[in-house]
Amino acid sequence: MVATPPRVGVLDLQGAVREHLRAFERCGALTVAVKRTQDLAGVDALVIPGGESTAIGRLMQEYGFLAALAGWDRPLFGTCAGLILLARQINDSSQPRLGLMDLRVERNAFGRQRESFEADLEVPVLGEAAFRAVFIRAPYIQEAGAGVQVLARFEGKIVLARQGAFLAAAFHPELTDDLRLHRYFLSLLPWCQQLPDSPDES
Ligand code: GLN
Repeated sequence: MVATPPRVGVLDLQGAVREHLRAFERCGALTVAVKRTQDLAGVDALVIPGGESTAIGRLMQEYGFLAALAGWDRPLFGTCAGLILLARQINDSSQPRLGLMDLRVERNAFGRQRESFEADLEVPVLGEAAFRAVFIRAPYIQEAGAGVQVLARFEGKIVLARQGAFLAAAFHPELTDDLRLHRYFLSLLPWCQQLPDSPDES
């Protein structure tokens, strides 16, 4: 029996939405740009993209996403601003957030001279080859709870973590051609284990 490809939603309020949609399509998944809470009904997993976390959080509140996602139990992937919105605690900020991961984060954490940079990360769950990570005014995870698995650090700081089927990256995996982290996220959906590899055409 052929497995039905999963349907991955990308929250489409603000930020780097198209690049995530494209990356998941290249992985063989179906995608949905999620603009209204009703769009959540048809998705098997959700991505909160990078952008500006205060703006995305405000819009999530205004459009009812904070309430709709409060008990979310499907796989969830937050990148950069998305990571901030998944964290329970944000240093010195009371901005709206989902707070579904047991994390304390520092925003814009890499300093002014390094607003934007790239680095090769060691990510053991993705295999031996380094993962090229694009950081843009990135946060890092200052503290992670006992149920959180640290998947990568940069200069000692946690930049990739997983709690059950929730995944949070401080960088932008959708801005490079390396699909390993998107595939890893899809592997958190039980039925994706049966998904055939799709060619990486660009
Ligand atoms: N600095 C942004 C924030 O705090 C995050 C930047 C990003 O998503 N690239 O929301």
